[in-house]
Amino acid sequence: MLPRVIIIGRPNVGKSTLFNRLVGKKLALVDDQPGVTRDRRFGDVELAGMKFTIVDTAGWEDEDPSTLPGRMRAQTEVSIADADAVLFVIDARAGLTPLDSEIGNWLRTADVPVIVVANKAEGRSGDGGIFDAYSLGLGEPLGISAEHGEGTADLFEALWPII
Ligand code: GDP
Ligand code: MG
Repeated sequence: MLPRVIIIGRPNVGKSTLFNRLVGKKLALVDDQPGVTRDRRFGDVELAGMKFTIVDTAGWEDEDPSTLPGRMRAQTEVSIADADAVLFVIDARAGLTPLDSEIGNWLRTADVPVIVVANKAEGRSGDGGIFDAYSLGLGEPLGISAEHGEGTADLFEALWPII
């Protein structure tokens, strides 16, 4: 089995865009298991001698906001149980939200390496958000733009020693 890298983050930060960027043209398998794992998508990534399975956590878009944190926590716990690394994605343009901080708190207690990925950081638009993300206490945030394909090389470099 390949090492498994899980993409985690609140809705709309660009998780699926990052997943598609990393998987490239290869079609992702849709995992139809019921319950909290029902919306996981798996794709295999191979680049520069590195091979891993990337997992997208999707389907939060229509959630009732009042139940979202609980559902996310359950999903996060299931997802990181079999993960070798977590990509915790935030929106560098929006800055940190309370839900980001909550997810960060769960991840700090988890026994898995976490890379904080500050997405939507094309140009200099995300500089403030990248700086804010240090306060999560999960190490140096990585500014990327999944949509524009910026920062992917840095991401691989950060994953290299972990997986
Ligand atoms: P998810 O809910 O976390 O899976 O987020 P999506 O991947 O569906 O993206 C949410 C929105 O953010 C979409 O409108 C994307 O086009 C946009 N988006 C994703 N990545 C970037 C990025 O790097 N820069 C900008 N400006 N927008 C992005
Ligand atoms: Mg998504």
